[in-house]
Amino acid sequence: MSRLGAAKRIIVKVGSALLVDQKTGTIKASWLSSLVDDVADLKIAGADVILVSSGAIALGRRTLGLPKGKLKLDQSQAAAAVGQIALAQAWSEALRTRNIVAAQILVTLQDTEERRRYLNARATLSTLLSQGAVPVINENDTVATSEIRYGDNDRLAARVASMMSGDVLVLLSDIDGLYSAPPNQKGATFIPELREITPEVEAMAGKPISGIGSGGMITKIEAGKIALSAGCNMVIASGHELHPLKRITDGARCTWFLAQSNAMQSRKRWIAGTLQPVGKLIVDDGAKGALAKGKSLLPAGVKSVEGNFSRGDTVSVVLPDGIEFARGLVAYDSSDAKRIAGLKSADIQKLLGNDDRDVIIHRDDLVMVGGERN
Ligand code: GLU
Repeated sequence: MSRLGAAKRIIVKVGSALLVDQKTGTIKASWLSSLVDDVADLKIAGADVILVSSGAIALGRRTLGLPKGKLKLDQSQAAAAVGQIALAQAWSEALRTRNIVAAQILVTLQDTEERRRYLNARATLSTLLSQGAVPVINENDTVATSEIRYGDNDRLAARVASMMSGDVLVLLSDIDGLYSAPPNQKGATFIPELREITPEVEAMAGKPISGIGSGGMITKIEAGKIALSAGCNMVIASGHELHPLKRITDGARCTWFLAQSNAMQSRKRWIAGTLQPVGKLIVDDGAKGALAKGKSLLPAGVKSVEGNFSRGDTVSVVLPDGIEFARGLVAYDSSDAKRIAGLKSADIQKLLGNDDRDVIIHRDDLVMVGGERN
């Protein structure tokens, strides 16, 4: 099976140049419809699909009557405010023809970089995916100011892939992949596959190449670094033809960046490598046995809680003798964790109101570590 066909969670970044006709400033409807067919096929095969779509500025600038060429920040933000409506509508209508519900998510840099917002964004996206919807993500261009913008959707898509533990990030581009030198230069060779982003690879990226959109190969390489460190494979492929995802599964030429571990392994390694867990959950032997079997840690198994921490912090899981045997990202702030320690889910609901988090550390956020006393 192809790498894309085998993936369970796929993030697809669609650049403005592919989606918006540069001459008319309108959506390329037949291309969009062919992409949506591919998305539907991947979903039928069992994959979750998240789209990261540019195009708001490209769509809005003409409607607003803005000049050609580079826009000032406030102009692009105004254009995005207008274009995002059309962009979301185009996706929603196209996906609906394949009975897929689209969900619009506009994010700012803090949403993937700040723990609390990250956790909320991840929870919302997970719920959408579990309900079979396809999230369509873009940067919230209208409110993001220059210092705190991603500015390009390549890196935004990579952060989303990392946040959502994606298996494959697809960057649909106006070029079919990475070349050793600018593709029109003599001697430039195509790179079909790489496993590491070395300084040589970075040097191959050269200058931005795209006419509209703010990407170029440099931001794609940056995206590659984010994706690979999160254990997510990345592929740069041409989106010029119809059915661009099917073409990848059918073996079209593209450049694969292959991660050395999968998303879950990278995430767990990252958790295990936390230098200083900020708190401790003291549990009994029964809870230890459950965790060793791959279960989540329930509040009922926690005897006491030490330290001051926030939801999403890394905490140690220790036995009463102080031996740490696991680490994980805790689902509650320390004040709430202290209140719910030892309680059953039904009692927690009564105590904390309508909260549906019944685990204190989810098994995906938990890693067993070798017995160090700390
Ligand atoms: N967020 C911008 C838009 O929707 C595009 C950013 C990019 O081109 O990567 O127009």
